[in-house]
Amino acid sequence: MSESVAVIGAGLVGALVALGLGHRGYNVTLFDLRDDPRTAGTAIKKNLRSINLAVSDRGIRGLEFVDSEMSARVLKEIIPMHGRMIHTLDGKQESQIYGLFGEHINSIDRAKLNESLLDEIDTFNKTAVNQIKLKFEHKLVNLNFNTRGASVECEVRYGVKRSFDFDFVIGADGSYSNVRYQMQKYIRMDYSQEYIDKCYLELYIPPGENGAFLLNPNHLHIWPRKEFMLIALANSDGSFTSTFFGPWSLTEALKKAEDIETFFLSNFPDAADLIGMENVVKAFTGNPKGALMQVTCSQYHFSDKCIILGDATHSMVPFYGQGMNCGFEDVRILLGLLDEKETREAAFDTYTANRHKDLKAILKLALDNYKEMSTKVISSAYLLRKTLDSF
Ligand code: FAD
Repeated sequence: MSESVAVIGAGLVGALVALGLGHRGYNVTLFDLRDDPRTAGTAIKKNLRSINLAVSDRGIRGLEFVDSEMSARVLKEIIPMHGRMIHTLDGKQESQIYGLFGEHINSIDRAKLNESLLDEIDTFNKTAVNQIKLKFEHKLVNLNFNTRGASVECEVRYGVKRSFDFDFVIGADGSYSNVRYQMQKYIRMDYSQEYIDKCYLELYIPPGENGAFLLNPNHLHIWPRKEFMLIALANSDGSFTSTFFGPWSLTEALKKAEDIETFFLSNFPDAADLIGMENVVKAFTGNPKGALMQVTCSQYHFSDKCIILGDATHSMVPFYGQGMNCGFEDVRILLGLLDEKETREAAFDTYTANRHKDLKAILKLALDNYKEMSTKVISSAYLLRKTLDSF
């Protein structure tokens, strides 16, 4: 009989690893504390942040490793970004391409990608003998490991708890992972969590007439202003999702409409035209402000019974655009090891031993890249022009 596995978290990484394990014949049950995002009411959807993400080759390789046809389907609406577009204070735009050979990253809607991966599970279930079971509104509250495997205790609606037995568990339950916490009771796991003094806030640039893009869609737009910055990535309907990053004290001090207007007009005048000042004020006063933190830990598994992937293992600040991409890479590497090694324990051991160095490196790159995006991208040609203008 094939082995049973509980995947905790039906986000980007959990949905992908569930598919990969399903293809390998495991009996997979995918749990999430949320409602199914595909059927959740619009009110719930509106409250979810609709960040769009940059998906890079690293992430695409992970998707293709699971199933190349599935990958092509879920990526069909991506918008290639061949470079950065730097918006200077005087309203000029400077294109800085990523490479001479067409190298690019791609803009994709996070919520749509998650929904597409869940749809792919339904497609898989139409023909597979080993169906992937989806259990939404199941919040993991406790994990117990025993000689047979793992007992997963979930809180279901109205506070009722239910337990399920599995051979092993994969935790893909995000930055505040409960699986990680439960595993810490069984192993000597090093762990750290660190907030940086930046928050993020989402703004929206609507499409122009007939769905036209008001900015070049094939660039990642950046308004670099050192201590704070604005970025924008294109959506397939002609709009852009824009994100403001700035220190908490600065962002929280912007409460009154006139202060917000003065700040935005003096720092992002061209973006103010595109977003509309009324919408800027609404965003600063009404939209949720997200905290940014990084989590590192090691080791990532407990014998052959449990392993964590994605943000549960390596939550990183978003300035390198690699959190999800790395999570998809986790999936590729783990599935590859499960294919290659004789036992699951050997696969998990090798995963922890080999993965930590790379994850530590990418966390550092992500942190360092704030300086790159907010300051260093201001080209020397621009700085020289400004200096000459001042004489
Ligand atoms: P999550 O997406 O957090 O999913 C975890 C899931 O687990 C959720 O569905 C949650 O409901 C569920 N869950 C949690 N606890 C429980 C529980 N107890 N029981 C059951 N279910 C539970 N990455 C990129 O690669 N490129 C980018 O351009 C990029 N930009 C970003 C911009 C911003 C502003 C931010 C904040 C992040 C960005 N990221 C980017 C990072 C990316 O969003 C994350 O790395 C990615 O979402 C991690 O996926 P995950 O599946 O590991 O975790």
